[in-house]
Amino acid sequence: MGGQKKTAQLVDSNGLRVDGRRIDELRPIKLEVGVLDKADGSAYIEHGKNKILAAVYGPREAHPKHIALADRAVVRCRYHMAPFSTEERKSPAPSRREHELSKVIRESLEPSIMSEYFPRATIDIFIEVLQADAGTRCAGITSAALALADAGIPMKELVAGCAAGKIEGKVVLDLSDIEDKQGEADLPVALMARSNVVTLLQMDGSLTADEFNQAFEMATEACRKIYEMQREALKTKYHIVRDVEMKDEMVEAKA
Ligand code: ADP
Repeated sequence: MGGQKKTAQLVDSNGLRVDGRRIDELRPIKLEVGVLDKADGSAYIEHGKNKILAAVYGPREAHPKHIALADRAVVRCRYHMAPFSTEERKSPAPSRREHELSKVIRESLEPSIMSEYFPRATIDIFIEVLQADAGTRCAGITSAALALADAGIPMKELVAGCAAGKIEGKVVLDLSDIEDKQGEADLPVALMARSNVVTLLQMDGSLTADEFNQAFEMATEACRKIYEMQREALKTKYHIVRDVEMKDEMVEAKA
């Protein structure tokens, strides 16, 4: 963040960014639920150039047994970037950053999971970044929440993530990699949109109080939009399942 020498103008005289977006515009988002057969729940997200898979296993018996809790399920999370996910090969071994992100992503999802229904069990969340272009922790949260819902795990509500930040003195929504690297600040946020509970708030760089308020407002507003997209993605999957079941019933009835 701000550590590298400036190489490109990030906002032009028309107020447009390198990828043509306005300062308060989200990158295009595509969500798909139920993309892996073996997992109990799964989802895929494309958020700009980010491509991320999330898989959920559980609730299942805790292993090793000594990690089990008597009153609720243990939620575990692994965030991992594939070696081919960035321009320069990333070592496949988990880095300090990936350990940190696994922890903050877990903590941002836990408030939504009704883990008290499953004592002595585990719920495992895997987030695999196939292509990274900044904002992967937020996109990871958005897709993992869908994978949890797809696994049928009781949740208070969905969680959606989006960052805002500052580039060339302007507060902007949803930084891409070049903006993140050359910009002055990055503020990732995750939100449970219905109850208005913020489950992730981090800041890299510096913002004035006014800039912080503006960035926070932008990010939470974007989380609300993403929440609506998550609802649509879930509905789409279950409409498809219902249509297939109805077709099967018709075939059986005819036979
Ligand atoms: P986030 O992806 O949540 O914004 P960071 O701010 O730590 O997390 O990272 C910003 C971006 O920097 C990542 O999305 C990725 O594009 C890039 N990046 C992170 N780690 C590496 C790495 N080891 N090698 C190359 N690029 C990386």
